Amino acid sequence: MQEEKISLVWLKRDLRLSDHEPIFRAIEAGLPVFIFYSFEPDITMSADWSEFHESFIYDSLLDMELRLRDLNKRLYVFEEAIEDLIVKLEQKFQIQNVFSHQEVGNAISYERDLRMKDFFQYRNINWTECELNGVMRGLKNRKSWNSKFLAKLKVRDYDFDLAALNTVNLSNYEMAQMLLEFKNLSFRQIKPFLKIDFSQVLHGGETLAKAFMRSFFEGRFQNYNKHISKPSLAQESCSRLAPYLSWGNLSLKQVFNAYQCKYNASEDSWEKRNLSAFKSRLFWRSHFIQKFETESEMEFQNQNPAFNYIRTEDNHELIESFENGMTGFPLVDASMRCLRATGYINFRMRAMLASFFTHILWQDWRCISDYLASVFLDYEPGIHYPQLQMQAGTTGVNTIRIYNPFLQCERQDPDALFVRKWIPELQDTPTELIHRVRKPGEQLLFFKNYLDPIVDYESSYRRAKEDLWAVKNSPEAKYYKQKILDTHVQSAK
Ligand SMILES: Cc1cc2nc3c(=O)[nH]c(=O)nc-3n(C[C@H](O)[C@H](O)[C@H](O)COP(=O)(O)OP(=O)(O)OC[C@H]3O[C@@H](n4cnc5c(N)ncnc54)[C@H](O)[C@@H]3O)c2cc1C
Repeated sequence: MQEEKISLVWLKRDLRLSDHEPIFRAIEAGLPVFIFYSFEPDITMSADWSEFHESFIYDSLLDMELRLRDLNKRLYVFEEAIEDLIVKLEQKFQIQNVFSHQEVGNAISYERDLRMKDFFQYRNINWTECELNGVMRGLKNRKSWNSKFLAKLKVRDYDFDLAALNTVNLSNYEMAQMLLEFKNLSFRQIKPFLKIDFSQVLHGGETLAKAFMRSFFEGRFQNYNKHISKPSLAQESCSRLAPYLSWGNLSLKQVFNAYQCKYNASEDSWEKRNLSAFKSRLFWRSHFIQKFETESEMEFQNQNPAFNYIRTEDNHELIESFENGMTGFPLVDASMRCLRATGYINFRMRAMLASFFTHILWQDWRCISDYLASVFLDYEPGIHYPQLQMQAGTTGVNTIRIYNPFLQCERQDPDALFVRKWIPELQDTPTELIHRVRKPGEQLLFFKNYLDPIVDYESSYRRAKEDLWAVKNSPEAKYYKQKILDTHVQSAK
């Protein structure tokens, strides 16, 4: 029997050192704390994972480690299944408690958590899971969700004095004795924090997250509503806080509190409108994650089963062209190329991409969900799957929108600057031609360096419209629609 009793803090999508309930509870428990993150092979080998995520997580862990190291405290990073890690730690320690956040993740992390529940129970280890993002486990429907959620935003912050955190500090020799191969984060170059470059991939970490949040409330939000749908301008005028929220560099409450302070201090109605629009989206965030928590089958199945019998043939050529930004549709290709290079594209373009893939290319949303997840730096399963299904029209409860990528280009990129930035082949093409619907085989001189459209837009649009509305108006779709509304729509307050 090992003598030294410890608590574990298992980091997940909560990579920060403030407003962190598991660390707070571990300090309260009074035992030395072993804080760790593990790049679990089951998760990092799944198709929705990518280097975007990995690099952001490294940045975040490095930021935490540097702050802890200054206080002579340690954080451990592994590449192991959690069960294997625990077994190795048990050679030396008596693990009394594990503190973590509840994860509303993909099926792999959900099944891992079910296994871990039995695993900890069998070993007599107390596992405390704290709520994240105000999302509640075990709700059968969302009838009273709104008021419960708002109440959670008023709860105290779980802040703590870092000096009070008594971490387990093992030497490399002791780690080797336990066969624990940890990742040394320090080999990675320290990033030039606070130097924000909007043209590249955002770096992770709580320090940078807070700087980003400040820069938004200090000025960037002024054009939030005006620029939100414009692919170039949204990069600066939107908050860009999504990856920091998804990987937990910021808590929802920290962002909400910063919003509230700014809103209360402002006397300008224009500012208040921008801030309110931002707040709505922050709430949608938890709304979608809660929806997914209640109905996680959405990762694999159409929310409304009446849509199961459309889009039954996968066309790998179309899928590949779409993924590579090579469809011959300028705004679609520019958005995809931007996403692949930076991990970011604004909401309207994401909606247009999903709409184009499912309606115009007539491909099933499941053929693109992993790929899009892997290139979204802010990948959050609880938003990703419900949004994707909403845009694909398979929820049966939302308005079906088939975006016209040429019209969107004219409205959201009027001078085609965004398109030309990402498609150098169109450098010399007149703007009005970029905005005009082009048919396959037209062979226009100004498009000689660019691709022919891979499908005919107008006939694809007509087919999608007819087929989608036929299903949406069917008795089966209406029956399932009512069931979905009964589960997810809140009663009037
Ligand atoms: C098909 C599709 C997939 C998406 N997948 C993700 C995802 O994996 N992760 C993710 O964070 N967002 C996702 N979104 C929502 C949205 O596009 C991004 O949250 C937003 O573009 C991020 O930029 P921002 O931080 O500047 O947002 P802002 O406009 O500044 O919004 C503030 C915050 O609100 C939340 N938010 C914004 N828009 C939405 C929305 N429509 N639904 C729910 N929450 C929202 C985000 O956390 C965001 O950081 C998806 C949208 C679509 C259409």
